Amino acid sequence: MKPKHLLNLVSDRLHTLPLAVMYLTDGCNSRCVTCDIWRSPRRNMPMALVEQIAGSFAGLQTRWVLLSGGEAMQHPQWPEIARRFRDEGAFVMLLTNGLLLKKQADEAAASVDEVIVSLDGGTAETYHAIRGVDAFDLVLDGIRAVRTLGVPVATRTTLQRANYREMPQIIDAAKAAGVNRVSFLTVDVSNAFAFGPRNLPQMTGEVIPLLATMGPGAPPDHGPLATALTPEDVDAFERLLETVERDYAADFEMGLIAEEPAKLRRMVDYFRALHGQATFPTVRCNSPHISTVIGVDGTLQPCYFLPSYGKLTPDGTLPLGDAINLPEALALRRAYRAGERPECGRCVCPLYKGPRALMRM
Ligand code: SF4
Ligand code: SF4
Repeated sequence: MKPKHLLNLVSDRLHTLPLAVMYLTDGCNSRCVTCDIWRSPRRNMPMALVEQIAGSFAGLQTRWVLLSGGEAMQHPQWPEIARRFRDEGAFVMLLTNGLLLKKQADEAAASVDEVIVSLDGGTAETYHAIRGVDAFDLVLDGIRAVRTLGVPVATRTTLQRANYREMPQIIDAAKAAGVNRVSFLTVDVSNAFAFGPRNLPQMTGEVIPLLATMGPGAPPDHGPLATALTPEDVDAFERLLETVERDYAADFEMGLIAEEPAKLRRMVDYFRALHGQATFPTVRCNSPHISTVIGVDGTLQPCYFLPSYGKLTPDGTLPLGDAINLPEALALRRAYRAGERPECGRCVCPLYKGPRALMRM
């Protein structure tokens, strides 16, 4: 059956859906400075919609599910949802801020195959400053709790101005908590609707010229733009990466640090490009051809960054298998594949799976 995945790569029509990314809720118990999702009333994905999606998995050969949010663990029935997808044969990954992980470690161990924890600081102070909650130790305790129960854990750090200097401490803290993998990506300062709403006026405009005209050492003092590294920071980050490559060579070698050094160095280019001092690194991505993002209300996107192409309803009038091939979906896939979507040029988390990886899925 697996070769059917390969058909996705030869046209803009999806024959299977190997990966489903699901926003279970838009409630969140963090208070991140770059995200406004927690300011709005919480909506939870209705169980009727969950059931409808789960019922599509066999026909779509869905192999992986990523539970996200908001904070996925704030959906009151998240373990039940995770187990429902597992019953369909999916490998279920829980992306979480980790605040409830210690309290619900048993539920996590009984319901998911992997936990991915956001760890945006290497010290309690930095974590608090970025996440708005004083929970660095609580998150690490949560990681330890699920690791003790045998659940694989990866950390994911969004590198930004406030935390890039702590990259070594972040790796050390994650390793001390027993994680299986440490991963880094750059902060996104250019997309208004990825990873939840961010109600800043400058997000709707062109961020790159804005940063480029600020000049050295003149970042804004608030909002997402404040999270970008200044030109001086980028130089320091480049030097730091050399140190990290040397001091953590064994961790790169064994894959504990998920990204290869060359991939981490591309982050330097990304931050330089934000200041108009370099071109954005070329991205390789076929995420819309192997996955889709399903919002809390059934809204569908080809990836985190591209706009919606349709919406599922709990009554099932538009099955997932039909929705992923709506004309709007095909048009968005055609456009990104033709290099016509500006979001791709500055994307911070592209995903690429070639034929061999798809055959393994
Ligand atoms: S960035 Fe994530 S963890 Fe932070 S407030 Fe937004 S949804 Fe919550
Ligand atoms: S490069 Fe980024 S924006 Fe473009 S399709 Fe891939 S994930 Fe989406």
